[in-house]
Amino acid sequence: MSLEAGPAAQMNTAVAAIAGAIPPQSGERFDDWTWYPELLARPVPRYTSYPTAAEFADADLADAQARALGLLRGPVSLYLHIPYCQEICWYCGCNTGAANRSQRLAAYLGALHREIEMVAQLIGPQARITRIAFGGGSPNAISPTDFVRLIDTLTLNFRLARPVISLELDPRSLMPQWFTAIAGIGVIKASLGVQTFDPRVQAAIGRVQPQDDIARAMDGLRGAGVDSINFDLMYGLPHQDEAVLDQTLDTAIAMAPDRVALFGYAHVPHVVPRQRRIDVAALPGQRTRFAMAAQGSARLRAAGYDAIGFDHFALPDDDLAKARRNGTLRRNFQGFTDDSAGALIGLGASSVGVFPGLLVQNEKNAGRYRQQLESGRLAGTRGVVQTVQDQRRAAVIETLLCQEAVDLPADLLDEARDGLAPFVARGLARIEGQRLVLAPHSAPYHRSIAVLFDAYRGGGHQFSSAV
Ligand code: SF4
Repeated sequence: MSLEAGPAAQMNTAVAAIAGAIPPQSGERFDDWTWYPELLARPVPRYTSYPTAAEFADADLADAQARALGLLRGPVSLYLHIPYCQEICWYCGCNTGAANRSQRLAAYLGALHREIEMVAQLIGPQARITRIAFGGGSPNAISPTDFVRLIDTLTLNFRLARPVISLELDPRSLMPQWFTAIAGIGVIKASLGVQTFDPRVQAAIGRVQPQDDIARAMDGLRGAGVDSINFDLMYGLPHQDEAVLDQTLDTAIAMAPDRVALFGYAHVPHVVPRQRRIDVAALPGQRTRFAMAAQGSARLRAAGYDAIGFDHFALPDDDLAKARRNGTLRRNFQGFTDDSAGALIGLGASSVGVFPGLLVQNEKNAGRYRQQLESGRLAGTRGVVQTVQDQRRAAVIETLLCQEAVDLPADLLDEARDGLAPFVARGLARIEGQRLVLAPHSAPYHRSIAVLFDAYRGGGHQFSSAV
């Protein structure tokens, strides 16, 4: 469900580069934002990690993963990936498949239980689990009974310290029994894939989802005690323009989710073949995309939401808004987060673990993931060992995106100075001694500024446009 780690989010829409030239539309205003297409021409990663997933290499990382687990102490987060959905949406870049074969689902869950037991045996005795996030795919592609069994296995194997439990949910297949399970287990955060309320746009992206489904999900989750509900919304979809987005925003705001993530759709059918079903002629152009992103930000802020980073919004009493205010906002594979744990253990096919100095991704293919665990091995098959330089740059990029200011080491400031000049000249950032400060209303340019501290960019990989 989350778009953060999916290839569509990571890859690009191949925006035409206008290297060096300033197009005539440059400087056009949209709500609080000013459009400088020449500054958005460079495709940029989403920076849910640094190095990004594009730098991950195939490697047998099982031993490194085991060592990293043994060294863990203090608060640790878990992420469990369920790579199945009841229905597959045409735009989706996530690692997911149809949940139409119960045997396949059962075999996957067997492997996941096994992985939980193996990882728990390796983890350092002083580590305690403070967060558990279920994502996918759609965690509610499995039955509520299977969900409860997973929680049981986690409880029996890990040292849980009253963890915050969160769930990504597909409202179309959210059966009432789920609300009972959610209330019984004490899930307090949930994220709903909404994307758009417009029926024509829904039909064009293969996700027909009546508004009643969302309303029922909201009522059920609130009744079950969930105190933070997120809506994922999208702009840049076929047949979408500012008027169409405006209606979706009206409906979303009236439902009062605690958080909203507003993502730009990245059309990359060469990377995500299921997107071939989307009519490219119906997609809005770059100017309309920018206008919609600006409109979404302005409307949500006017409705009382705080802007969190470049694409999240939260009501002021939500934990995410509090984290932004008190300077503890972080960024990980799920996007902007108030999770302050020092490590994240990824469980399930394609999930990513984040350890000090090591990023490791489990085998993506569910069948091969299962085989790996059946042979008694951990499932990490891709990743990267962070160098000291990587760790310095990772800290700069994360701090910049989360705090909107960063104190730069002299060498990194010198290296980035020329690249920063056009942003500074347009009032989007300023340099105060060694400190780089992002200006108010510069959100669409944050990733384009962050890329200046990325030693791996400059060729090869293609990423999404910043807006
Ligand atoms: S419900 Fe649709 S968008 Fe969400 S993970 Fe499944 S296929 Fe992707």
